[in-house]
Amino acid sequence: MKYPSVRNYINGQFVQPASSRSLPVISPIDGTALSEVPMSSAADLHKAVLAAKAAFPAWSHTPIKERVQVFFRYKYLLEKNLDELAALISEENGKTIGEAIAEIEKCVELTEFACSLPQLVTGEVLEVSKGVECRTEHVPLGVVASIVPFNFPSMVPNWTMPNAIALGNCMIIKPSEKVPLSVGRLAQLLQEAGLPAGVFNVVHGDNEIVEAICDHPGIEAVSFVGSTKVAKIVYQRSTSHYKRCLALGGAKNHLLVLPDAIPGMTAQNVAASMSGCAGQRCMAASAMVAVGQVDHIIEKICDEARKIVPGKNLGAVISKASKERIERYITEAEQQGAQVLVDGRHVKVEGKENGTYVGPTVIDHVKPDMAIAKEEVFGPVISIIRSKTVDEALAIENSSPYGNAASVFTQNGGMARYIIERASAGMIGVNVGVPVPREPFSFGGWNESKFGVGDITGKSSIEFWTRLKKSTVKWNPEAGINWMS
Ligand code: NAD
Repeated sequence: MKYPSVRNYINGQFVQPASSRSLPVISPIDGTALSEVPMSSAADLHKAVLAAKAAFPAWSHTPIKERVQVFFRYKYLLEKNLDELAALISEENGKTIGEAIAEIEKCVELTEFACSLPQLVTGEVLEVSKGVECRTEHVPLGVVASIVPFNFPSMVPNWTMPNAIALGNCMIIKPSEKVPLSVGRLAQLLQEAGLPAGVFNVVHGDNEIVEAICDHPGIEAVSFVGSTKVAKIVYQRSTSHYKRCLALGGAKNHLLVLPDAIPGMTAQNVAASMSGCAGQRCMAASAMVAVGQVDHIIEKICDEARKIVPGKNLGAVISKASKERIERYITEAEQQGAQVLVDGRHVKVEGKENGTYVGPTVIDHVKPDMAIAKEEVFGPVISIIRSKTVDEALAIENSSPYGNAASVFTQNGGMARYIIERASAGMIGVNVGVPVPREPFSFGGWNESKFGVGDITGKSSIEFWTRLKKSTVKWNPEAGINWMS
């Protein structure tokens, strides 16, 4: 193994969990055994909760302007260690170094937002009757948890951790067992940045730990990012224990391409959106609805797709099982009459024969009722569905149970607005393939792409990670007593 066995991080120390169960950590790039990750038990989680609980009084009573100083230093450490952090992400997740660098750059942006929180959480105060003041303040919840997926080993933890902790909470994070290495490195950087022991803890494991997080009475709030199937389980289970929960799920994002779209720019955006991070983004373009006569744009999309080379500017998918699943979707669509214009099945990368690569794939004449048109494929594949009108295209987009993102490519502003108003998704792009809102705007989908109220990042996260304390104060006894005092 290239790295020592992964350990939990509890109370500022890397510790071996009690459980003897573990899973191998395999690099999707070439099949190298990187490490092994322990499958912790509920007893290990309990230790983390105790550590976080013990750290909470001092941390929550540290003024926020002091708390964010840790994140100013953490941001600097992310930048200082950018190359090494990016290499680790690429190794464990399979994405290209360029994509991994972009992931750390996004972590920097997320941390910058956390550093701005003192400017955003000022409360309110008003003299409501003579000498009587009412005031509201955002106060932290206590011990909170964050459960994260494999596709962004650093970015998704940084969606939740800097904001939750800067706002005064103590956090336990459960990384994906497929990519457990990056979060350990983030824990070291937080320690170096001066975060007190117990404020941030990492417990590795699988569904057993996720269930224990949902059930633990010492955890006040749970944030989850992953597939819709598990988001539903986590949302139901944690709210049944009266916890606050925000659970982000999977996606099936539609790009609507209209005949007046600029061909070159549209083709570049569609190809980049479907293939970035090997299509393993909840914001990836997965279905393209071709409205009317857009064959000239489809030709250009194929040209762009052919420039994307596995092992060079296209990373690997997470596992052999993923590769097989993606290729099965393509074959099934082909058997049902779809036309594979660019075929990414069965690719091998020289020197990385054990890597799990799928090449860029463009499939035309996909029907809306095919599995590849409806389900999340999570690979570098775009399914083109033909439609005669914009309303027919919108009906296809609206019929998806998901609702993370949608984009339209057109030069007609009125038509773009028409589509923005009618697409059933939380994040919409116009001539943008991956419409991820940048800080300070918040991230979050609709429908079965998100369960719970609010969004996970930006200003919206303040509502999730804090509650309001309302105080009514009177220091002037001479004012007497009236109906409200
Ligand atoms: P996943 O749902 O399989 O796993 C997510 C987390 O849940 C992991 O930590 C995993 O250990 C845990 N888990 C898995 N199965 C479980 C079970 N049965 N019970 C309890 N916990 C369980 O997701 P993934 O494969 O790691 O990530 C890919 C998915 O995440 C895709 O569906 C993608 O769209 C989604 N995603 C969504 C967003 C978003 O913002 N909506 C962002 C990133 C990823």
